[in-house]
Parts: sequence; structure tokens; C-alpha cells
Amino acid sequence: MRMRVFTASLATETNTFAPLFVDRSAFEGAFYCPPGTHPDTPTLCSAPTVAARRRAASEGYELVEGTATWAEPAGLVSREGYESLRDEILGQLKAALPVDIVLLGLHGSMVARGYDDCEGDLIARVRALAGPDCVIGAELDMHCHLTAEMVAGADIIVAFKEFPHTDFLARAEDLLELCLKTARKQVKPVSAVFDCRGLAAFMTSREPGRSFVDRLIAMEGKDGILSISVAHGFQAADVADVGTKVLVIADGDEAKAAALAKQLGLEILRWGQGGSPKHYKPEEGIAAALALAEPGKPVVLADRWDNPGGGVAGDSSVMVEALLRHPEIPAAIGALWDPVAVSLCRAAGVGTEIPLRFIGKAAPSSGRPIDAVVKVVGTTEDLLIPFEQSWVSLGPAAAIRIGQLDIVLASTRAQTFSPPVFTDLGIDLSAKKVVVVKSSNHFHAAFAPIAAQVLYLDSGGPYPPDATKIPYTKVKRPFSPLDPNPWL
Ligand SMILES: [Zn+2]
Repeated sequence: MRMRVFTASLATETNTFAPLFVDRSAFEGAFYCPPGTHPDTPTLCSAPTVAARRRAASEGYELVEGTATWAEPAGLVSREGYESLRDEILGQLKAALPVDIVLLGLHGSMVARGYDDCEGDLIARVRALAGPDCVIGAELDMHCHLTAEMVAGADIIVAFKEFPHTDFLARAEDLLELCLKTARKQVKPVSAVFDCRGLAAFMTSREPGRSFVDRLIAMEGKDGILSISVAHGFQAADVADVGTKVLVIADGDEAKAAALAKQLGLEILRWGQGGSPKHYKPEEGIAAALALAEPGKPVVLADRWDNPGGGVAGDSSVMVEALLRHPEIPAAIGALWDPVAVSLCRAAGVGTEIPLRFIGKAAPSSGRPIDAVVKVVGTTEDLLIPFEQSWVSLGPAAAIRIGQLDIVLASTRAQTFSPPVFTDLGIDLSAKKVVVVKSSNHFHAAFAPIAAQVLYLDSGGPYPPDATKIPYTKVKRPFSPLDPNPWL
């Protein structure tokens, strides 16, 4: 009999401290594909749908697609929003039964009112419906809270390995491959998790993360090791399971999986802050950029703590104010979230000079709004930019100019993944010395080729960069850096 595979995706990343509340309409407005309507290109968390489609014919399975949906990272999800999307997918699964494999595209840090672990809840309900013999596989973002419920409910969990996330489709393919082998009884996956009891995130665009992940990839598929995932964690969430964990899946040998998970987890812990780059204060960053910029090549400064991908508004005025203090510097900054200002700029039209109040409005932590006479230098109905194999919409957008500073304003909250945020609005980045992007590190792959250097900013928030100052109430202790790490 032909194998039957069901796939669906429900994902967002919840910053429980951000006052940007999410309901079902946030999913429907950002990315919502009922069965059969998913585009041919993958998105960050729905890559399993595309991976499963591509191999259905050659592997000879029947694919049943459920809903795939995503909301831009923000604050708490409403109970009704989560339950309605969850139950929609469970209803589709129920109608598709019996199935041999369920492939889920999740994030792993979705928190709704009444549900600190949405993915653990969803996986448990999928298991209850699909039965003990169904192979359940889930792809997670590495910025997840890897809970015991998720690991117990799924047969196989594969997280992104790369930060920036250049590998969401590759990891979906890994997940599919392992689920097929498991369903065909070619392997017997057993999972072991090492809890680092703290936060030990790192970037793979630099050392030591780069070589470490290259080693993980080289270990997979050999010596009985099927898959290795490092769940970096997502610190802006008040949940019990926040923190870094290493998941190893071995072929039948749990002790081997546990030993390797511990060995790798201890290695990451021993880096300490070595896994993280230097962070520059705004003035310090601008000075460093001026010293390092080359003719035709700006320095790219990442405003990591006002990154919409971290669940904050992305309309902080701190770096715009800093650049306005330096009218002598040709600079650009974007994309900042301000749908009201965008609509005013588009109505005024390209070439006009208008008095505009913009940014610094969405949250108490957004800073002050800026009042200035600006020149509208570019507008678009939809700022659509590439991010690896996917396309991301920032909605209607406008570029405004104050002296030598060009500012991109967008209607939809999304990260500054790639240079077309600027260039599609007519901004020539090669004429700039400083380019500030609203992104933590996903910008890196696309911006590094046009940059003399990439530096990281500490503009003070609104994302909470210092875990010792986060008002956690639920995290399991001991937890470093709140407590000394018990493993060190
Ligand atoms: Zn992530």
C-alpha cells in the first residue's frame, strides 16, 4: 500500500515581554496557506511542506497538505488564536487518517495565553490522533524552548543548525529523509537531550560556531548518529524551559546519544561569551564604522535589539537619532515599522518634501518619535525581499531622506534580510559609509558581500539582551547567568 504523509505548519516566536499582542488575524495577515495553497518556495518554518512535495513522486507516497501559517514574532498569542489554528490542523489530520508520517513545521517558542508550550501541546494531540505507530517529525527553529513534551511526543525533531538561518530547507529535507527511513524500519531513532542549564547561543557566521556546526554535520549519518540539533533557546520568554539544549538522535542506542549530547553541550558552555561578538554602543559603533568603511563599501551595523524577528516592534528611534547627530556621514537605516508614516509618504508622492512624525511610537520602549521635514525619495506598494529560498513581504514602504541619511519605513514588521530593502527603493548602498539594519544576524549572508565589515550594536533594547535583568518567574533553576552553571 502507498505510504501516506500529512504535513502542516503552525509557527511564531513569542517574546512574552513584548506588548505586541497576537491573534488569529496576525497569522492570516502574515502567512496563511490553507491546504494546497502553499507557494512553491519554502518559508522559514513551512519548509517541510515544500520538501515533502518535492519528493512525493520519487518516493511514491501520497501527500496530504494541511494548513501552513506563520505570524511575525511578537508578544503573547491569544488562546482563541492558537486553539483555532491548532484545531484546524488537527481536523485536517483526522480527515486524512490513517497516515504513516506526520511532518510538522514549527518554531518551538510559541506561547499562547494558557499554553506555555504550544508545540508540545500540538505534538501530543497529533500523537493522540495519529496513533503510536505513526512517525511524527517536527522541524524547529534553533531559537526554541526544547521541552520534554516535544521530544516525548515526536519521533524525530530536527532544528535549524545555522544562524543566520540559511538552512531551513536543508533541515526540512533531513527531517523528511529520517522520517521515511523510520517508517520503512531502516532506522530506529532514539533521542537524548542535554540541558545546558543556561543560555549559550552562538552565531554560525563566525567562529567558534562555524567550525562547530561543520563538525556536527560531519558526524551525522556515521557511527549510529542520525541527527544532532542545538536548541539555542530564546531568552525573551518567561517559560520554564527557556535555555540551550543539545538533542542527539541515535540509531537505537540511547546511551550513545546521551553521551554525545552531553559532550557537545559542555563544549558550548566552555566557550562562555566567546560565542558572541563584540557589541558597540551607538556612538562607538558609528565611529568604528567610519574608521572601517571603504570606498564603495559601507560598514553594516546590526541593531540587534530592535529586531522584529525577536518579537519587538522594530520602530526604535535610538539609531536614527544617533545618525541625525552626524549629518556629515552618508548613511542609511531600515527597515523601521511605521504604517501610518508610509501611507502619508505614499500619498504625498516621490519628490515631495513633507513634515513627518515617524517611528518611536509602537511601544513604551520604542524611544521618542521623530519630527522632521523629509524628502520622499521612493515608494512601493509591496517591498518584497529575498531571504534564502523564500520571499518576505514588508508591505507598502517608503524611503525618506534627511540630508545624507536615507531611512526606509515599512508597513509590515519584518527583518531586514537583504539589500533590496534599500536598493528596491532607489537607495545606493555603495554611496554610504554606514548602513544600519534591523536584524540580529539573518541579514549577514546577504549583506556581508556588500560590506567592508559587519558590526553588532547594543542600542539598549527594546529586546532584553541581558538575561540577568529579565524578570523571569518560571525558569527552572539553577539557570546561568542567573545562577552559577552547575556543569562548569
Ligand atoms: Zn531563529
